[in-house]
Amino acid sequence: MNTTLIISQARREGRKVLLENEAKTICMEYAIPVTTFKLAKTAEEAINFAEQIGFPVVLKIVSPDIIHKSDAGGVMVNLKTAAEVRSAYGKILENAKRYNSTARIVGILVQEMAAPSTEVIVGAVKDPQFGQTLMFGLGGIFVELLKDVTFKVAPITREDAQEMVTKVKAYPLLKGYRNTPPTDIDAIVNILLSTSKLVMDHPEIKELDLNPILVYEKGAKTVDARIILE
Ligand code: ADP
Ligand code: MG
Repeated sequence: MNTTLIISQARREGRKVLLENEAKTICMEYAIPVTTFKLAKTAEEAINFAEQIGFPVVLKIVSPDIIHKSDAGGVMVNLKTAAEVRSAYGKILENAKRYNSTARIVGILVQEMAAPSTEVIVGAVKDPQFGQTLMFGLGGIFVELLKDVTFKVAPITREDAQEMVTKVKAYPLLKGYRNTPPTDIDAIVNILLSTSKLVMDHPEIKELDLNPILVYEKGAKTVDARIILE
């Protein structure tokens, strides 16, 4: 399904926050790398998908009423066997019910478990004055505590994207520092360019969050994507 269809379907259903599988499908259309995923409706299906994707996997709640999935006990990582997937499936549903008894449950997303690495964040917000504005930073304390982020108004050029990456204070970490191996800066730059194109093509996107993106020596992988419509 393409981006326009996903957005119009959400609109028809009165939803402003896209589901993770919808947001990641949109990312894929813009060549933004994401973890492989499949939406399961039963525990049996989740096990089948886990076997297709390959262990270990991650299971996550998919509900239009649960935006911060881990707050609801809706994310379980590093599931290594069919038995662990079955038990996590049940636990996530239970946790979601306890968190919000009236939450509509679409299913459970089974996804590839991305190997740990340096985490970065790419975001976009529609500023009332400047329009679509892109944000870049490193994950965790860098964004939340130190506010070490760069911004540029979209659309951006490759040089702009490179500047967004090199101008954060934590940039030396991305280049490789002591125990941290160098990361694929080009992969980040490409994600910034794709995100710029996505939000320019779709001005109805009010907010976008790729948080976190794991960056490797070669390539990167978005493990969570959130898109909010106007
Ligand atoms: P939330 O809605 O709470 O932000 P996330 O999808 O971001 O949920 O999951 C919470 C955390 O779990 C992530 O920040 C990441 O550390 C980890 N995680 C989620 N999905 C994956 C994955 N596919 N591979 C590896 N780690 C993951
Ligand atoms: Mg997240």
